[in-house]
Amino acid sequence: MAMAGSRFFGFVIGGSLPVTLGANWLAGAWDQNAAIARATPGVAIVEQVALRWLLDVLRLPPVCAGAFVTGATVANLCALAAARHAVLERVGWSVEADGLFGAPPVTVIVGAEAHPSVTKSLGLLGLGRTRVVKIPVDGQGRMIAGQLPAVSGPTIICLQAGNVNTGALDPVGEICGRVRGTGAWVHVDGAFGLWAAAAPSRATLVAGMDLADSWATDAHKWLNVPYDCGLAFVRDSHALQAAMAITAEYLPTQSDVRNPCDFTPELSRRARGVEVWAALRTLGRAGVAELIERNCAQARRFAGKLSAAGFEILNDVVLNQVLVAFGDAEKTKRVIQALQAEGTCWAGVTVWQGRTAMRISVSSWATTEADVDRSVEAIRRCAQR
Ligand SMILES: *Cc1c(COP(=O)(O)O)cnc(C)c1O
Repeated sequence: MAMAGSRFFGFVIGGSLPVTLGANWLAGAWDQNAAIARATPGVAIVEQVALRWLLDVLRLPPVCAGAFVTGATVANLCALAAARHAVLERVGWSVEADGLFGAPPVTVIVGAEAHPSVTKSLGLLGLGRTRVVKIPVDGQGRMIAGQLPAVSGPTIICLQAGNVNTGALDPVGEICGRVRGTGAWVHVDGAFGLWAAAAPSRATLVAGMDLADSWATDAHKWLNVPYDCGLAFVRDSHALQAAMAITAEYLPTQSDVRNPCDFTPELSRRARGVEVWAALRTLGRAGVAELIERNCAQARRFAGKLSAAGFEILNDVVLNQVLVAFGDAEKTKRVIQALQAEGTCWAGVTVWQGRTAMRISVSSWATTEADVDRSVEAIRRCAQR
């Protein structure tokens, strides 16, 4: 599958900026185990710098701790482990020491459109995949803030920035405002949507994003670094470290530099921060903004041209996602099959609130307007057949 190609619009994938692939090869040759700052100070400092830049670019609180992990799934796991620690510590329970048997109950609130990786993380953490309070969503998949119950006691609220179908973001600021002072922990799964914060024109989508307690995102999606690279950010550094820290006599953890393995589930780990550093060092704040803005504009171009050609756009194109229907489910599936066989570009199928749709995700640095236009023509040809 030509996932590195400029006309790959499946899932939410992104490519690899050339500089990040070069950095990845170098880091591979350096063969650094990025677990312990005392042993590998170079890559530990690169991670520390990259983390500072990420918080700046994503407009998150500079005090946040961060973890460089394999993807947003593990980032969700890390952040929710920190959440679990914090909400139970507040009621005098040490979950790391004593586990969950006999612990005070934790209420977990999720939106009806929560990503399955959040569900999986909740299962891994003993909080339960289905033992959750589900809040209804609107026509774009956004949690309806008014439906949030009154919260009390240990509570974790899982929000989403970037619905995998529509690209929509939950009203994070509004929900944080509602639960202020209750001690509830607000986590945001922003695998790709958190990057809206880097783009000035998308600012209204992320209003109040910095009021949450933790965030998960991917670098291998919209930042366009190679696999595998995800990021967890946690405002309360103590909570993340309490959940993740590892100690042994033979592991020298005392260091002035941030010690990576105090923040991640892994001990031995490749130095994936090198690629993030390379991407941010090359693009700069302005370059990241331009990349996000460009892909959003390309998504709108797709929607505009496909709509003008008589096809139905099912979502508000606020970010990089476009849902297109070509008639009923059978017709739409036939168009998608024909497109995948024809090979100009690749887009997958989804079902959005009962409607079968082609799902177009624009996430690659390599995509040009000409790629969009050529892909629209291919889609038209397939639909006319
Ligand atoms: C992609 C995605 C994930 C999972 O990310 P991985 O990097 O595949 O682990 C989680 N949440 C959302 C909203 C996503 O789009």
